[in-house]
Amino acid sequence: MQQKLPTVIIVGAGLGGLTLYHALIKNKDKKEFNVKIFDRESSPQDRWQGYHICINNYGARSLINCIPSSIALNLPIAMPNPVPNVEYHGFSLSDHTGNLLLRPPTKQAKDVFEVANTSVGLSVIITYRDKLRHVLLENVPVQWGKKCIGYEETDDGVWVLFEDDSKEFCDILVGADGINSPVRKQKLPELQIFDYGVTIIVTDVTAPKNLIDRLIKLNGNDTFQGTVGLNGEVTATVLRFIPIEQNNDEDKSESYYRTTIFFEYPTKLDDDQINVDDNDPASVADHVKYMIRKLRPECELTNIILELWDLVPKTTSKTYNPTRRRKLQDIDPLSVNTWTSNRITLLGDAAHATSPVLASGANNAIQDAEVLSQALLNYSSENYISCIKEYETEMLKRSSADVLNSRFIELKQTSPVGYIGSIFRNNFIKISNFTMNLFDYNFLARKN
Ligand SMILES: Cc1cc2nc3c(=O)[nH]c(=O)nc-3n(C[C@H](O)[C@H](O)[C@H](O)COP(=O)(O)OP(=O)(O)OC[C@H]3O[C@@H](n4cnc5c(N)ncnc54)[C@H](O)[C@@H]3O)c2cc1C
Repeated sequence: MQQKLPTVIIVGAGLGGLTLYHALIKNKDKKEFNVKIFDRESSPQDRWQGYHICINNYGARSLINCIPSSIALNLPIAMPNPVPNVEYHGFSLSDHTGNLLLRPPTKQAKDVFEVANTSVGLSVIITYRDKLRHVLLENVPVQWGKKCIGYEETDDGVWVLFEDDSKEFCDILVGADGINSPVRKQKLPELQIFDYGVTIIVTDVTAPKNLIDRLIKLNGNDTFQGTVGLNGEVTATVLRFIPIEQNNDEDKSESYYRTTIFFEYPTKLDDDQINVDDNDPASVADHVKYMIRKLRPECELTNIILELWDLVPKTTSKTYNPTRRRKLQDIDPLSVNTWTSNRITLLGDAAHATSPVLASGANNAIQDAEVLSQALLNYSSENYISCIKEYETEMLKRSSADVLNSRFIELKQTSPVGYIGSIFRNNFIKISNFTMNLFDYNFLARKN
């Protein structure tokens, strides 16, 4: 008699959940599962999945290992080949007036496949997050409009419960359902989200070439550029220097670049006069500009940042993250005393949401998918716990280290230092930068 295939249910069709789906299907010659994937969104277009994100050599390698070659061939849609002599795929940090503090050595690659093959040091490729999700959706039968609200574990498996009163049975449940994961809240109610006391506002704008040229002239051609101030305020721009298709209302003699802009500041800097409507992007952009004028000196860098925030669309449609103030938060998965391995496991932001400074969230979600799919190759109805435990042991160690490193740097750069403090801080960063470049050794790169 033919044995029933074990069922894996993935809740969440984000970057992590989709990568896991592909990996389980790709491995089916070695171990076959009945894989089902559900998402609360009503369709793939329900919410804008935007932003530029850095995919590093670890993430790129795991991604290519997990997906079939037919989909790997489409990756350049989401991560176009770096433009030689135009783009430097790396990170730079300058002070509040545009003086360079840090530009860690980053290996330049000709395409994502070369990024993936970089075994020593750090290599990154700036990626359109929405397009990567779109590429990963190919051949994945996501069941849309299925919001998970919890689960019930029995002796033989797990019932996954949905808001529409339906339920599905499985052998293994993977919560890949993002930072507010209901699966995590039920499995580990004591795992708390860490709040930085920092407000973060992130959005995508369409920036004209002349403005980006001024940014490049001031800060160089790094695709990810940050600035740190005296009061704990931080700005960043992340973009590809590849012109985008123009809208009808744009000047045809000018090229435009899709640009992600960030602004972070200690929430306690909000004064009593503050009156922001988070449902109105124009009101949020006005607030950011008010804070920048209040906290930053008048100079070319400040002018560029203000002009970028001037570009925030005046209206918002359905977006992944509408332009609004948010709390900067993360989750250290090792901050709980016990993590019991059972049929219910977590992947990606659901387990270890990370602050953005080291750009590791999506990379870890993708690596989780590879490690879990490999561990499940040994699955049997008797030893499923040891497979999950093998995955969770590696995932917890790797992701907790990244969350805490990221937290350390994020707390440092959002701490008000004042003028004198900034002299010490900036010199410390410059010495680190000098040392890294002298020895061609990037302290920020992961060691394994
Ligand atoms: C501004 C910003 C910049 C970033 N930059 C980087 C970067 O440079 N590099 C990097 O590696 N990472 C970066 N990240 C982080 C990265 O985007 C996330 O870590 C990554 O998307 C996590 O993937 P995930 O699959 O775990 O979760 P998500 O992508 O959040 O996907 C979760 C999915 O679960 C679904 N879902 C949620 N709740 C339910 C439910 N109840 N039922 C069913 N489905 C549900 C959601 O609809 C969604 O599709 C950045 C994040 C932000 C916000």
